[in-house]
Amino acid sequence: MCDLLNHAETLRRAAGMPHLTVTAAPHMSGAARAERSHRCSPGPTVVFGGEAVAEPPLVRLATLGHELAHHDLGHTTDPVDYWIIYLQRALGVAALIAALADAWAVLGGLATAAAMVWLATNAMYRRREVAADARALALLDRAGLPGREAMAAMHAADLVVDPWWHAAGGFVFTGHPPVYARARRLDLAR
Ligand SMILES: [Zn+2]
Repeated sequence: MCDLLNHAETLRRAAGMPHLTVTAAPHMSGAARAERSHRCSPGPTVVFGGEAVAEPPLVRLATLGHELAHHDLGHTTDPVDYWIIYLQRALGVAALIAALADAWAVLGGLATAAAMVWLATNAMYRRREVAADARALALLDRAGLPGREAMAAMHAADLVVDPWWHAAGGFVFTGHPPVYARARRLDLAR
C-alpha cells in the first residue's frame, strides 16, 4: 500500500493536480473508480476495491494511472454526464405520460430515443476509457515510472477476466471497450 500512495503522489505532481485522495472500498472487489469527490475527501479521489488494491504492483500502478487520467482529462467533472441524466429522466417522464394516455406510437418513439441515448452514452464512455489509457501511459512516462510495462500488465490481467460475450460484440451495451482493443489501441499510439 505504501508504494501505491508514493506513486499516487508522484503521479499527482506529474499531472499538476493540486490534490488527490486514494482510498479503498472493499465492497468494490476488483474494480477501481475515479470519483469527483468522496466522503473522505472533497476533491478528486481514486477508489480501489479490496481485490484491486491487492493486485501485483505493476497492475496496481497502471490502474492508478488510468483512474488519475480520468481526472486529468476532466471526465469526472464533464457536465455532459449531468445532461445525460436529465435527458434520461425527461424521457422516462414523457414515456410515463404517453403510457397513461395510451399513446403507444409515441411511447415506441420515446423507447427508441432512450435506447439510442443509452448506446451513444456507452460509446462516449468507451472513448473515455481509450483516452484514459493513453493519458495514463503519458503520465507514467512523465513521472519516470514504468508505464509501458504497467499498462501491459494491467491489460494482460484484465484480458483474463473479460467475459467472452463482451469481447464478441456485447461491449456495445457497456461503457468499456474489449480489453484486446484497448491494448491494441495503446500499442498503435506508441
Ligand atoms: Zn476507466
